[in-house]
Amino acid sequence: MTNQDIVYVVDELATLFAEQGGNEYLGEAVTQAEHMLRAAACAEAAGAPDALIAAALLHDVGHFTRQSSSGEISGHELMSASTDNRHSHTGADWLAAWFPEAVAEPVRLHVAAKRYLCAVEPGYYDKLSEASVHTLGVQGGPMSREEVAEFERGGYAADAVTLRRWDEAAKDPDADVPGFEHYRVLLERLAESD
Ligand code: FE
Repeated sequence: MTNQDIVYVVDELATLFAEQGGNEYLGEAVTQAEHMLRAAACAEAAGAPDALIAAALLHDVGHFTRQSSSGEISGHELMSASTDNRHSHTGADWLAAWFPEAVAEPVRLHVAAKRYLCAVEPGYYDKLSEASVHTLGVQGGPMSREEVAEFERGGYAADAVTLRRWDEAAKDPDADVPGFEHYRVLLERLAESD
């Protein structure tokens, strides 16, 4: 990837955050951008590796709907629709074109991780927000025993679960966290390493 490409993709993401980040986040008290920035701040505070901080920052990028010349972010499906929620895959596919697997794959699995935690961790379901409980139904409900085993066998399961916990924690409207530009150098470094 050329330097120009790297600047392009990070600018593209900055634009998405600025233009679409103000969208409502599934009925939560934070906007989509606020939510993703909060997740990234949780990751950073936890001392996570750069790739996982980026994954937290970008985990819901599949909710954004901008078409671009060299990559597409599309397939946005309203969670209220009674279809499977594909935003994790849409986002991960787009990210995989630019960033290492360690960024894209936890994003791909972050919805599965919710279904996983609901199946294996007593009390997890009770901590979900109302919106998250609603989407769980659309996403297929708690995993079956077979699905749990398959999830655990796959790569990035632990990272996806960790990301999921930040996702749940990132809904506090009063949190004071850095903006998108705080992550620019980190994102450029990751894109460069891919
Ligand atoms: Fe999220």
